[in-house]
Amino acid sequence: MNETIVTLRSATKTFEGGLVTALDDVSLEIERGSFVSITGPSGSGKTTLLNIVGAMDVPDSGEVLIDGSPVESSADLDAIRAEKIGFIFQMHNLIPVLTARQNVEIPMLPRPLSSGERRERALGLLDEVKLRDRADSSVRGLSGGERQRVAIARALANSPPLLLADEPTGNLDSNTGLEIMEMLHEQRRRTSAALILVTHNEVLCEGADQHIRMQDGRIA
Ligand code: ADP
Ligand code: MG
Repeated sequence: MNETIVTLRSATKTFEGGLVTALDDVSLEIERGSFVSITGPSGSGKTTLLNIVGAMDVPDSGEVLIDGSPVESSADLDAIRAEKIGFIFQMHNLIPVLTARQNVEIPMLPRPLSSGERRERALGLLDEVKLRDRADSSVRGLSGGERQRVAIARALANSPPLLLADEPTGNLDSNTGLEIMEMLHEQRRRTSAALILVTHNEVLCEGADQHIRMQDGRIA
């Protein structure tokens, strides 16, 4: 098995018809199972970098390999994302009218699982994040920390080798934020996924195997 889960070679991404260079000739390698933190001022390219590493977007030029497969065009993105990536956003992005369990089941829908199998797997994942007793609660009725735990369970639905988190604790009080990070690390260890964390909070970067500091679209 390849020990590198993500490779970027000279990735460049511009917006506004080339006026804004969000990512400027960035190369990096991320080891399977590692914890990578990304910090840097607002506008330095952190989200753009995460989007490219997470198959949400492709660079204008340069090479991206995820789990050994080249990401060559936007046509490749959906399949790679479904199989390889779990994303946790600042604003959890859950579907509010669905229950916790239904939200966790969504990434599994394209897979050949029976509804019973999906249900059992979702309940197991909710158990991992200590929310099994809230499985049938509407997401609307959950606290911010509980919603983020559902988002973690959802991200793990297809056992991805790569977990990406963009300011996952940005909307939480600091104690709840630490709890969420503890849970993310626990699941990272359990599933051997790599975790790439974008944050403004240096405390959350402690223990990172690799620390990436972005500045003007480059790794500082
Ligand atoms: P960060 O996450 O570090 O705040 P971003 O990656 O969001 O930085 O943005 C990097 C630069 O690219 C910024 O100048 C931002 O305005 C610009 N940018 C990012 N996404 C877009 C977009 N979809 N359209 C236009 N400009 C964008
Ligand atoms: Mg950002």
